[in-house]
Amino acid sequence: MGEQIPIVDYLVLDDGAPYLNANACEECGALYLDRRNACAKCGKTDFGKKKLADTGKLKSFTIVHRAAPTVPVPYVSAVVDLDGGGAVHTNLVNVEPEPEHVRLNMPVRMTTYVAGVDVDGTEAVAFGFEPAEGN
Ligand SMILES: [Zn+2]
Repeated sequence: MGEQIPIVDYLVLDDGAPYLNANACEECGALYLDRRNACAKCGKTDFGKKKLADTGKLKSFTIVHRAAPTVPVPYVSAVVDLDGGGAVHTNLVNVEPEPEHVRLNMPVRMTTYVAGVDVDGTEAVAFGFEPAEGN
């Protein structure tokens, strides 16, 4: 099996169970998954790292029926509020992409999957969120 690399740099795969690693404002604690020059909330420029929870609740979603030709539709595009803070724009996976199977505030948890493999066998690993058990 080849090496695995995360499809986004804030997805950490080589430190136990996969998790999202946010940039946390040292001043006010605001969390960002992308790189920032300054905090959007307080304007300060010092950031640390914060490991985010892999569980949360579905804050909003839309069922996408049109996309680029190579993207299978329909799929569920979502925003998840993570337990303990932070939010992530993601896809809801392992669920029927129909309104009766998706509801606001449903508990979800992160999962990873192989999004592609290159000629050397290196796997690009992506993440999504799926309905949590007991839901
Ligand atoms: Zn801040």
